[in-house]
Amino acid sequence: MTDDLLPRAAELARDFRADLAGRPVFPHDLDPAAVRTALGDLPDGSTAPATVLEQLRTAVEPALVASAGPRYFGFVTGGALEAAAAADILTTGWDQNGFNPLTSPAAALAEEVAGTWLKDLFGLPPTASFGFVTGGQGGNTVCLAAARHAVLERAGWDVETRGLHGAPPVRVFAGSGRHATIDRALRLLGLGTQSLAEVPTSPDGAIDVPALRAALSTADGPAIVCLQAGEVNTGAFDDFPAAIAAARQHDAWVHVDGAFGLWAAACPALRHLTDGMAGADSWSADGHKWLNVPYDSGYAFCAHPAAHVAATSYTAAYLVGDSPETLRSPGDHVLESSRRARGFTTWAALRQLGRQGVADLVERNCALARRFAAQLSDAGADIVNDVVLNQVLVGFGDDTPRVLEAVQRSGECWMGGTTWQGRRLMRISVSNWQTTEADVDRSVAAIRTAWRAVQTR
Ligand SMILES: *Cc1c(COP(=O)(O)O)cnc(C)c1O
Repeated sequence: MTDDLLPRAAELARDFRADLAGRPVFPHDLDPAAVRTALGDLPDGSTAPATVLEQLRTAVEPALVASAGPRYFGFVTGGALEAAAAADILTTGWDQNGFNPLTSPAAALAEEVAGTWLKDLFGLPPTASFGFVTGGQGGNTVCLAAARHAVLERAGWDVETRGLHGAPPVRVFAGSGRHATIDRALRLLGLGTQSLAEVPTSPDGAIDVPALRAALSTADGPAIVCLQAGEVNTGAFDDFPAAIAAARQHDAWVHVDGAFGLWAAACPALRHLTDGMAGADSWSADGHKWLNVPYDSGYAFCAHPAAHVAATSYTAAYLVGDSPETLRSPGDHVLESSRRARGFTTWAALRQLGRQGVADLVERNCALARRFAAQLSDAGADIVNDVVLNQVLVGFGDDTPRVLEAVQRSGECWMGGTTWQGRRLMRISVSNWQTTEADVDRSVAAIRTAWRAVQTR
């Protein structure tokens, strides 16, 4: 019986995926208590595995979100590509510990190859080190740990040994439009959010370089500058050549948060947005957003492998075995020891798409974002940002919150809200490989219907 269980799980996953475009995008009539009841109590005895699978499916099915589908435009969310979803199932079946070459040479080698491909796609230095992390948060945390090591080492302080008590203060500079994961990374790293000097941004959300220059000049000492490829609301890119030049004047480490925007570098039509970016010291990106691989998948790249490894590796006596010396050790570049073999899904996605396919995916999504903007503008809505990438900010005057709620309730599509420069707006992000022009047209129709209903109420 148990032999049939993995195919059964795959079949259920297949059926769900096949129906993604057909089901309501968000389960609005959800009764959480009913789901809790269906999930039940902790049993004293065992349950047959096949029964467990059916119980799980039945219990949570009403609460599932079609976020992997073509009309989900919330946050910045992709949906797993076919090869990546299948490779993820295989990753589970193989159940490798991706810690190091001794626990799984397969995991180590797949990460080595996929990581090298990613550097190539992003135009990063071939000598850069990389870690396959859990996502953008993991990427920012690992990169800022490497930054903390390097800027304090230059100040004669070994932070890994001595900690931060008595250390020279580290100043961190980031635009007001930075992602909240930067702040959390600073908290986790003991730098604290007070170390952060918030730099104003221009109206499109990019860091104001003269203001950055002025902020850097107020003091000396260890400094880290956090730039952004793809502002979370507008998709704007910082002016990398100018911002990096300003940072270099003060010997600051430059980190680029490129959770989704780094993918512009893999696309000839958009690559200009990332000009100069490769001159930074570290970069983070997500796999589970725009590459459309399953969760959890992100990347941390570092131009200074020694700083990267100094911040994240460890050695324990029981680990020193006959590990093939020449193989890269994945666990030395991330925050976990025992870990999922994350390289398989990224390798599979890149292999399925190829260089051209990645560029096409990114470019197609950006064209669909422009389609949204054009049609909503025609409908009388206010397009607030310059749609340089896949993000569209839309205002419906005072009706915005109610339009947003009505659209979300429609089940036709789902997009989130945001507050941008004091205005409550609809935030549309197009990041899914399956989204078509028809999906955009249908979503615009749903938005127009919702707006009309709000106006006549
Ligand atoms: C999504 C995002 C993050 C966080 O990534 P997670 O994968 O959700 O941890 C960080 N920075 C930016 C710019 C993002 O868009």
